[in-house]
Amino acid sequence: MPHPETWLKVTPSGLFCEPGGFFVDPPRAVDRAVITHAHSDHARPGHRAVLASPETRALMRTRMGEGQAGDRQQALGWGERMRVGEVSIWLEPAGHVLGAAQVAMEWRGSRAVVSGDYKRAPDPTTPGFVPIPCDVFVTEATFALPVFQHPKPEAEIARLLESVALFPERTHVVGCYSLGKCQRLVALLRIAGWDNPIYLHGAHVPLCETYEALGVPLGDLRPATVAAKAALVGAIVLAPPSAIADRWARRLAEPVVCAASGWMRVRQRAKQGGVELPLVISDNADWDELNATLDEVGAPEVWVTHGREDALIHAAGKRGIRGRALRLLGYGDEEV
Ligand SMILES: [Zn+2]
Repeated sequence: MPHPETWLKVTPSGLFCEPGGFFVDPPRAVDRAVITHAHSDHARPGHRAVLASPETRALMRTRMGEGQAGDRQQALGWGERMRVGEVSIWLEPAGHVLGAAQVAMEWRGSRAVVSGDYKRAPDPTTPGFVPIPCDVFVTEATFALPVFQHPKPEAEIARLLESVALFPERTHVVGCYSLGKCQRLVALLRIAGWDNPIYLHGAHVPLCETYEALGVPLGDLRPATVAAKAALVGAIVLAPPSAIADRWARRLAEPVVCAASGWMRVRQRAKQGGVELPLVISDNADWDELNATLDEVGAPEVWVTHGREDALIHAAGKRGIRGRALRLLGYGDEEV
């Protein structure tokens, strides 16, 4: 059985599956790309052929326009096998954002799985991560330090709602990424019983519409920019992280600046961003989830694409799992 090292290669254009003739999440435009998910650091514009989940294809079209989302686009449903070149390929959910997939590849009995970004905590907007036994597991390591222990998202949402109840005359503006985090927050707020309109920065509107079109109900969403200032008193507004500390947010009624991110675990980071109420809600696996996942997939070898690879490789090594840092460039620009 050939070792995955002999057929899945790190090149300047990204991770290349040689017998299949395709790249996985290439950082530059290529002929054939398999895309794990629609975040901009994984889904680049301008590929000639794109293979992805139907949801990722739709989200890519929303983000980059029909013309840039791949000249030829092909969708692959969960668990459906397809032959690309000499390789058998299929997708399973990664639990990261809607449509996010792990890419499983098999060649001559040797199996590698590229996780893309993933998390293990349940998310009402996307199917949960499915562990796939394999010979090499290619993982991210965004939060691969023992200090990163994500609390339950429900508890963080409860803290937000407590603050809203405590300061009814103020507007809570929550900084969150437009793909995934925004829609997850809305869904979590609905589950927590918040039926009021949720107001959105313009950058968040198109992706919320795509989520709804793909069957994820988000309730009463309204544009914040055109809303009367009085309507925003006591309201929750979701905006990109870049907008919460600038002039855009200052027009809101005495804004309470919040941010939802795994990085909010780092107090200094919240402080620097002017965040008054940090919410530790992450779409990437924390330290325990990363390690539990390595044990579950049972691969004798793990390759780390980006993040804090040293700590994870060290922890894996102690359990007899061989580690390799791929140091792929370009990932992590849109970490959440
Ligand atoms: Zn991502």
